[in-house]
Amino acid sequence: MLYAAIFALHAALPARRVKGYVNGPDGQPLTYRLNGLLVFFVSIALWIGACRIGLIAPEDFWLHRWELAGGACALGLLFTLFVVLRAPRVQGWSFGKELYLGRAEQPQLLGGRVDAKMFLYLLGATVLELNLLSFAAYHRTLHPGDASPGVTLYVALFSFFLAEYLFFERVHLYTYDFVAERVGFKLGWGCFVFYPYFYGVGLWTAAPLADPHWPSWAFALCAVMFFCGWVLARGANMQKYFFKREPQRKAFGVLAPVALGGRVLASGFWGLSRHINYLGELLMAAGLTLSLGHPLEWGPWLYPLYYLVLLLPRQRDDDKRCAAKYGPLWDEYCRRVPWRIVPYLY
Ligand code: NDP
Repeated sequence: MLYAAIFALHAALPARRVKGYVNGPDGQPLTYRLNGLLVFFVSIALWIGACRIGLIAPEDFWLHRWELAGGACALGLLFTLFVVLRAPRVQGWSFGKELYLGRAEQPQLLGGRVDAKMFLYLLGATVLELNLLSFAAYHRTLHPGDASPGVTLYVALFSFFLAEYLFFERVHLYTYDFVAERVGFKLGWGCFVFYPYFYGVGLWTAAPLADPHWPSWAFALCAVMFFCGWVLARGANMQKYFFKREPQRKAFGVLAPVALGGRVLASGFWGLSRHINYLGELLMAAGLTLSLGHPLEWGPWLYPLYYLVLLLPRQRDDDKRCAAKYGPLWDEYCRRVPWRIVPYLY
């Protein structure tokens, strides 16, 4: 019901229509309805309202987390079958590969009103946020009067991370997922289950634990680490977005683009390493994990570890894709910017 409600909100609430980066079957850029941030806040408001009138308890998502995750699993599988089976087969791919990676590149539903990728990311972010709020509510009921500021900081930073992702929804139309991926189990099940139930793994571990009584400066350092990561990730993504839309324009009014062959950006964030945005993502993940104040618990570290496992091969795949797309320009870029992710290290 929760998932259907988010779908209905996304389809029904007002949205701005924008042109994307990838082309549709008619060779024209696909258009998208963007209302992610609105749906996100309306969902939170409805959740608060439901708690206030006693329809649900704030900690219910924690108390029933396993059943809810199980239900999401089943829905994610049904969605995968639905989205894969209705699309034409991909030549040369086995059925297993099609199920996992998907068939359709840009499926849109309800006559283009709902873009599957856009909806999936919105769904994942919104359910994750509700989980975080509920898990934190459980923590407060378990430790009345001695709740950990780390839990509050973690939820605040994560909420910022999710809200700002939705605020910059349009920029994500220019990223790898939209450009290069199809919709199947990986993206579909990933956003139905993995994103909302795994990303908050820090609180799965830390919600029951007592306040670690860290000094304020230690929590402040974690927040600084998180925001340093945010500057790298958001800065790089925005710079590339500005460049793709207006190649001559200075990013943020100061970073003049140095573009190889007018197509490959080799300055600013993209002159530090070829995927400095991934370093930013890793720093944010580590900052979030540490902000809980239990660095010796292994559970919360699964989150940054997941990013390592995701982003290291992704960087290599993207490198291959770009080498094929840009040819000698990419070789020149690799010579100028030899670092894959971490400047002077990797
Ligand atoms: P990028 O946004 O880096 O996109 C890669 C694409 O950008 C390339 O395929 C290429 O496409 C273009 N590109 C790359 N380098 C250059 C360059 N120097 N000049 C011009 N174009 C370039 O990768 P992702 O989509 O993987 O990541 C986007 C963001 O999402 C990142 O911040 C990442 O960390 C984040 N992310 C977050 C995840 C999460 O779970 N929270 C998961 C995965 C990613 P083309 O030229 O065709 O435009």
